Amino acid sequence: MNRNEILSSLKTNPEVSVLIIGAGINGIGTFRDLTLNGVDVLLIDRGDFCSGASAASSHMAHGGIRYLENGEFRLVREAVRERNRMIRNAPHIVGPLPTTIPMFKYFSGLFNAPLKFLGWLDKPSERGSVIIKLGLMMYDAYTGKTRTVPRHQFQLRGESLKRWSRLNPDIVTTATYYDGLISNPERLALEILLDAEADNSNAHALNYVSMVSGEKDSVTLKNELTGETYEMHPKLVINAAGPWIDLTNNKLGLSTRYIGATKGSHIVVDHPELRAAIGLNEFFFENKDGRIVLICPLYDRVLIGTSDIKIDNPDEVRCTDEEVDYFLKLVANVFPSIKMTRDQIVFRFTGVRPLGSSGAAKTTGQYSRDHHIEVLSGEQTNLSFPIYSLVGGKWTSFRAFSEQVADKALTFLSKPRQKDTTNLPIGGGRGYSTDPDEQKRQIDGLAAWTGLSKERLQILYSRYGSRTETVARFINLEADAPLKSLPDYTRREIIFLVQHEKVMRLDDLLLRRTMLAMLGRLTKEITHELADILGDCMGWNIEQKNAEAAYALHLLSDRHEVRL
Ligand SMILES: Cc1cc2nc3c(=O)[nH]c(=O)nc-3n(C[C@H](O)[C@H](O)[C@H](O)COP(=O)(O)OP(=O)(O)OC[C@H]3O[C@@H](n4cnc5c(N)ncnc54)[C@H](O)[C@@H]3O)c2cc1C
Repeated sequence: MNRNEILSSLKTNPEVSVLIIGAGINGIGTFRDLTLNGVDVLLIDRGDFCSGASAASSHMAHGGIRYLENGEFRLVREAVRERNRMIRNAPHIVGPLPTTIPMFKYFSGLFNAPLKFLGWLDKPSERGSVIIKLGLMMYDAYTGKTRTVPRHQFQLRGESLKRWSRLNPDIVTTATYYDGLISNPERLALEILLDAEADNSNAHALNYVSMVSGEKDSVTLKNELTGETYEMHPKLVINAAGPWIDLTNNKLGLSTRYIGATKGSHIVVDHPELRAAIGLNEFFFENKDGRIVLICPLYDRVLIGTSDIKIDNPDEVRCTDEEVDYFLKLVANVFPSIKMTRDQIVFRFTGVRPLGSSGAAKTTGQYSRDHHIEVLSGEQTNLSFPIYSLVGGKWTSFRAFSEQVADKALTFLSKPRQKDTTNLPIGGGRGYSTDPDEQKRQIDGLAAWTGLSKERLQILYSRYGSRTETVARFINLEADAPLKSLPDYTRREIIFLVQHEKVMRLDDLLLRRTMLAMLGRLTKEITHELADILGDCMGWNIEQKNAEAAYALHLLSDRHEVRL
């Protein structure tokens, strides 16, 4: 069903077993697990899919070595396993990421870490080589038999400086271990959602539909693009609104304080010298104030982050100039001979971690990154359905969290679990090979029947993995041409995204279906050319196309400091 068909079916059939509010990674993961098990589910988001916290991550599929010192062993063990599963199930988007920790002391932290673990030390403190060695041994142990990435290694000063010649010569050692890089989280989330919808004809996902109120047995939804409202009667509501969980419960007439949110910002820089200095390695280290920060390769750009600042209103966060200063300084600490300036920043982004409110924690770094479900039964509210609020979590552990939520929901609905997602490939990861010879064989095969050039297919393969065949088939149905302002995309490819990937607004295309904005590739011309193609698909007139382009340009400037 297309969007209009789904919306009109809500009018004729307002009964649904599960309504999921919020299509970040946790809402989408739960949607997939429930649809796989034959449940009729409606997933809604007031904005685009994966446009909240899930679009603001550091792009790491990681166990979170740092959480060991907070004593969060369960979380780290689960996240390491989930990291490995992500690398296996979505190899077209998630790959092993060599991660290097530069260290400036041998022994620091040896006494602090146990103190922090026991809750006797409030402030972050410098971690020396010995304590990091212990952490990495534990981290390796959690990978267990299912070794997807190599074990960690230590390099002495001389060896480290030979390998990374621009590194601060004050280092005493470096350690390199492996985590995962989610190169395009927004696409990964969308492909999980599309897989789920394809699997179950009673499961539907709608962006730009918000939950506005609820009472007794009904919940009111609003189409944010038209203002039209819909009354739904769910048996169960799953509140997956991330940082907006308490505000969402509030709309249902409930007062909750589940979330203790902190914001984190990142910048993306176009800096070939820094990019060459880090190579394929992420540098993950402790800044002078004790915060763990990162410098990470992202395609031909460098991603730098992040801050951890307590906030109250998740709608008003921006990456501030003070945060940018902080990022500039942290790069100078580790690569002092590399000069970085503000004009090399091509994109800023910020998001809010939906962490559980943590009374005991003294610093934001100590807020638990673990996840749990808060249940409000019908008896505790004046509503006839229970509400499960999904608090906390990490991108990395979304599958495990979703499984726990789905198990609870299936029990409530008295349905047995039939399938699980442990080894379920995702979207273009199905049949995808990381072996260059096998990739070449697949591309040669596609070139033989599609008539598309191997170079073009290679580009599509790097964007869509094994879905390239579907994209190529669609492109082939009509005449195609490269975009005037962006020749590595074609008109038919954009139309495919609009028609098959639920694009409703121009910023969906610029920020989430493609990485054009994040990688600093946009120009005014590209924005207008894409608005024109999208407008043709939507039946917009020239004024509507211009208004949409103006809205996207405003958003880019206001939220991401991208001024075109
Ligand atoms: C700065 C930062 C860095 C991070 N780095 C990492 C990392 O490297 N690795 C990692 O594993 N994790 C990381 N995380 C954590 C991870 O990104 C989040 O835990 C996860 O994305 C939370 O997803 P969610 O689905 O719960 O929330 P969200 O993604 O925020 O989804 C909630 C959705 O609910 C919608 N919504 C709100 N109100 C309503 C309503 N009334 N009606 C309909 N929809 C509504 C919102 O529009 C939003 O899309 C990071 C988080 C941040 C902020």
